[in-house]
Amino acid sequence: MSLSFEHVTLGQRVLFGHGQAGEHLAEEMARLAAGRVMVVAAESETELADRITSGLPVALRWREVRQHVPVDLVERARAAATSHSVDALVSVGGGSTTGLAKAIALTTGLPIVAVPTTYAGSEATNVWGMTEGGVKTTGVDDNVLPASVVYDSALTMSLPAGLTVASGLNALAHCVDSLWAPRADPINRAIALEGARALAHGLPRVVVDAGDVQGRDECLYGAYLAAAAFASAGSGLHHKICHVLGGAFDLPHAETHAVVLPHVLALNEPAVPEAARNLRAALGAGTPDGAAGSPGDGSATASLERLRSSLGAPTALRDFGLQEQDLPDAVERVLPVVPESNPVRVTPERLHRLLRAAWAGETPRSES
Ligand code: NAD
Repeated sequence: MSLSFEHVTLGQRVLFGHGQAGEHLAEEMARLAAGRVMVVAAESETELADRITSGLPVALRWREVRQHVPVDLVERARAAATSHSVDALVSVGGGSTTGLAKAIALTTGLPIVAVPTTYAGSEATNVWGMTEGGVKTTGVDDNVLPASVVYDSALTMSLPAGLTVASGLNALAHCVDSLWAPRADPINRAIALEGARALAHGLPRVVVDAGDVQGRDECLYGAYLAAAAFASAGSGLHHKICHVLGGAFDLPHAETHAVVLPHVLALNEPAVPEAARNLRAALGAGTPDGAAGSPGDGSATASLERLRSSLGAPTALRDFGLQEQDLPDAVERVLPVVPESNPVRVTPERLHRLLRAAWAGETPRSES
């Protein structure tokens, strides 16, 4: 089979090591010759940030972080960065914290060293997002891509089980959606599948034992691969749906991804048999006998459902505040942003069935 494709990998340094974040951060600050650092970490992430930044030349510690990165907050944080003559940003926290650092970098051009403490993956993309008046705007700019990412699974030990599962499935969604996203290619597909394998192996371990270091390492490694694949392949149907639901109905980010994913996979699976076989094999790594799916159903969707059920994952959007009467509005908002690359034609009826099933927590079903 001959191969022909165009692939882009974003350039950033990645340093990985359990208990090594402090040391790695100091190395990166020296590399950037940073003398006045702004540390961005939410109030709830302060303890994690203080643990690893005590040796840095910190000029400013910024603790106000809010989900969806409101513009008024960004403006204050940018002004503080300027008035303190900051020359580098260090973010320590989840996707909301990384998001604020990215918004500061967007106009100031300050380099970011990101230390992620969830599996959201924003640190590996050049995508920024901000909200104003309830409307979320996103854009792509290489200024916001962190220069370096420091991964340390010791910082994820405190993630509560619910957030571990939702955030881990948010990462898995990056892998799955990359299989059919607009810029999917053999390289980002390979990265996505290895990410899925690592997440499917690591997540069940950390759900059983939150302090399992190898399991935590696998989840963080998988989350990085997931985000790298997604950054390269672009946003597929799943992310378009979740973006609309989060923005228009204020649903929580990670949980929405966790619920919607199997329904999008069930829709697309029959049209991408090879990718589905590979995904099924990757997800199967987490099961005791190495096999996936329930007897009689060898689909990737069944493998994902088996994994989700073993993790006690959330199942219904109605549990997060979506109302049944919101569904027609959601359909109308999603339809115009459905990617042309989606392997299955997305009709209003299909989309409504998919969203209704995700809303009610029904078993995901393919249509063929
Ligand atoms: P989050 O950053 O809002 O964090 C959720 C909660 O977990 C917060 O209260 C936080 O303080 C807490 N937390 C973080 N790390 C912890 C830890 N180790 N232990 C205990 N508590 C911890 O949620 P998220 O899911 O990480 O990020 C979601 C946001 O990221 C969304 O706004 C989403 O749009 C954005 N995002 C952006 C991109 C991108 O490419 N731009 C990619 C993925 C996600």
